Amino acid sequence: MNTYATPSQAKLPGPPEIPTDLLIGGEWRAAQGARRFDVIDPSSGRVLTSVADGTVSDGMAAVEAADQSAKAWAATAPRARSKILQACYESMMDHQAWLAELISLENGKALDDAKGEVAYAAEFFRWYAEEGVRLNGELNMAPGGANRILVQYAPVGISLLITPWNLPAAMATRKIAPALAAGCTCILKPAEETPLTALAIAKLMLMAGLPAGVLNIVTTTDPGPLASAILHDPRVRKLSFTGSTEVGRILLREAADNIVSPSMELGGNAPFLVFDDADLVAAIEGALAAKMRHGGEACIAANRFLVQRGIYDAFAERLTERMGALNVGDGCAVDTQCGAMINAAAVGKIERLVDDAKARGARVLVGGTRCERPGFFYPPTVLVDIDPGAAILQEEIFGPVAALTSFDTVDEAIALANATEFGLGAYVYTSDLKLGLRVSEQIESGMIGLNRGVLSDPAGPFGGVKQSGLGREGSHHGIKEFTEARYIAVEW
Ligand code: NAD
Repeated sequence: MNTYATPSQAKLPGPPEIPTDLLIGGEWRAAQGARRFDVIDPSSGRVLTSVADGTVSDGMAAVEAADQSAKAWAATAPRARSKILQACYESMMDHQAWLAELISLENGKALDDAKGEVAYAAEFFRWYAEEGVRLNGELNMAPGGANRILVQYAPVGISLLITPWNLPAAMATRKIAPALAAGCTCILKPAEETPLTALAIAKLMLMAGLPAGVLNIVTTTDPGPLASAILHDPRVRKLSFTGSTEVGRILLREAADNIVSPSMELGGNAPFLVFDDADLVAAIEGALAAKMRHGGEACIAANRFLVQRGIYDAFAERLTERMGALNVGDGCAVDTQCGAMINAAAVGKIERLVDDAKARGARVLVGGTRCERPGFFYPPTVLVDIDPGAAILQEEIFGPVAALTSFDTVDEAIALANATEFGLGAYVYTSDLKLGLRVSEQIESGMIGLNRGVLSDPAGPFGGVKQSGLGREGSHHGIKEFTEARYIAVEW
């Protein structure tokens, strides 16, 4: 097993040591040809360590390992699987500080966000330890009375899980936990920017008693050919992807050839609606949570603030005060509230969107130009009076920028909220519950925070409509994505 050795690698938290090789069949293996790639610390731009750069043949070895262990895992009693998942939960929480430091190091997010992510990520193990023993089937009398209809939920089969860098722990466990609880073995392909978190979680899972081959991990810089080859192996029956809509489309096409079942958690463009009668203090707290968790690098991050004219100026002023007071810095520094962006391209995209808005007449209340310091930083920014044609209203910002637009009527607010191809998260603030529910029902979005700036909960069904995705993760829905209904018509 390769572990860190150079002085810069010694920055990684330990013990236990963090693996940097592929996990195949319960063993840590070098990639074919011993290829490796660097992992960068976004807070400094420096190399943290390197990990194995898996090839197509490594991917096929992972499929083979998942296949070898598939029957035994599917036949393992639900309670036995549940005990392992519960042990994974406990192990993650026992190592919360260790994992959080690692997330902050390789992702750049503030340590508090990283700690919160570890708790959220671990919770998927606990939740699915509980759900896995309650995967109830159905037994009905056929309407004609001739027979019974028996339905069982069987494991769908070997699953390919592909995850993004923005929540490297939670996006992995949100897939691994339900897949394992349902009785599926799997191959995880984490994002190349943040491979260490997934490898560290896998190490904890093996320590918690996970049998060899049930979870395999292939890190790579060339995910396209690897995913394509895996999805064209007839033994693979499930694709669960979280990432951009653009890559989601490519993978849906890849999955189509073998009719592989897809679950897709894709991009968002969340509106944050504030009505005149909203509790301003609560709306500001909610806005900060919805905008600034994980430095704004979240698929459900508030992207477009739509604020009714009567409260617009007060909301803008308070939000500016709070955004301007946030400490920007190294993710691992204790007083950091807004960490680094993932890489230079991410900062470049935020800069392009802000500059376009400014060129179209937006006013900058705070921030608005990139930080001149090593690493990849953009300051908390508030923009008002956004032109309806600005790109910032159409594209995911994925950074700490709040773009405010005013509206007058309820119908106008709903029309603005729905003027996007995305439909993942949305937020509504009003003191009138009737209005809030009416608006919530009309917003084209998979999830709505009504007087609440935090949506993610392992017990709630997470997912989008329109071009934000297919299927749901978390809750009792999440495990069903890894099952197939088996129907037996039976007479007795
Ligand atoms: P991305 O689509 O670039 O990458 C996601 C994953 O796909 C990575 O592991 C990457 O290596 C892999 N990938 C890239 N090209 C591939 C290909 N051709 N074939 C197979 N795999 C490929 O996304 P990202 O930049 O890592 O993450 C940010 C995006 O993820 C944002 O759009 C965000 O909204 C979305 N996201 C969605 C959710 C959700 O639950 N809906 C959650 C988190 C992030």
